[in-house]
Amino acid sequence: MDNKILGLHHITAIAGNAKENLNFYTQVLGLRLVKKTVNFDDPGTYHFYYGNEEGAPGTILTFFPWQGIPKGRTGAGMATEIAYSVPEGSLDLWRERLSRYQVETGDVVERFGEQYLPFTDPDGLNLSLIEPKSPDSRKGYTTPAIAQNVATKGFYNTTLTLNRLEPTAKILTDIFGYQQTEQEGNRYRFVTNTVSEANIIDILLDESAKPGYNAGGTNHHIAFRVKDDQVQMSFREKILNAGHQITPKIDRDYFYSLYFREPGGVLFEIATDNPGFTVDEPLAELGTALKLPKQYEPSRSEIEKILPVLK
Ligand code: ZN
Repeated sequence: MDNKILGLHHITAIAGNAKENLNFYTQVLGLRLVKKTVNFDDPGTYHFYYGNEEGAPGTILTFFPWQGIPKGRTGAGMATEIAYSVPEGSLDLWRERLSRYQVETGDVVERFGEQYLPFTDPDGLNLSLIEPKSPDSRKGYTTPAIAQNVATKGFYNTTLTLNRLEPTAKILTDIFGYQQTEQEGNRYRFVTNTVSEANIIDILLDESAKPGYNAGGTNHHIAFRVKDDQVQMSFREKILNAGHQITPKIDRDYFYSLYFREPGGVLFEIATDNPGFTVDEPLAELGTALKLPKQYEPSRSEIEKILPVLK
């Protein structure tokens, strides 16, 4: 399995207000802020990484909060829903908790025989909590308010809304090693058996959906996981050989990245397990200090002045 795609690595979305985003994901959802850094292409903007205790691949949701950014529109060519796996029997508790924080939730819906609770974050990003059919063995990150019987365990799946099924399905199956397993209405499920969690991509086929507009409250890209940059480069070859364009390897300090736009319009990334989030701070202190890539370290005091106040 070492040379395969190992499910999802992280998902990145766009937010507006940094403080609001931080409060929602750490206090309301109870995720751990595992890294506080800046957008490497725009160091006056934060880049927040939320995950489980150690920021394991498959649990990491990241945001660029751009104060004042207009709201985007979810639509075709975009990941339009992100689902977290939660313990069996916890959806009622989550419903109560979310309503206590004035977070509007939808009705619990059933898909593929599983219960989903949909809701949105303060910027309108579509999220949901799901009780998986087969038990999720991952340990949730707990906080004083969120115990193990409720805590989110990491990603369950993500949904891509597409005008056409085949071109994207082909990338998932022929290159990434996923298999199409189930279909319910216009929702097609793809699963990889290389890992048992964060291993599902749903495609929602909507031939008439308008293209999404990428701004506040929408997904920016989804990253698939590989063991290391050697495996990553073998996927680069496969994607080039299939006739797609892809970036060179980019050093993101906590992982290496490749990006390509799949034929349905979604920005896909392939990201490595190495070196991980403990490369520049110990596990116990993850997310506590502002970490800057080395090219911006000389400008730290200017950057700290520009960044939004979080407290
Ligand atoms: Zn990414």
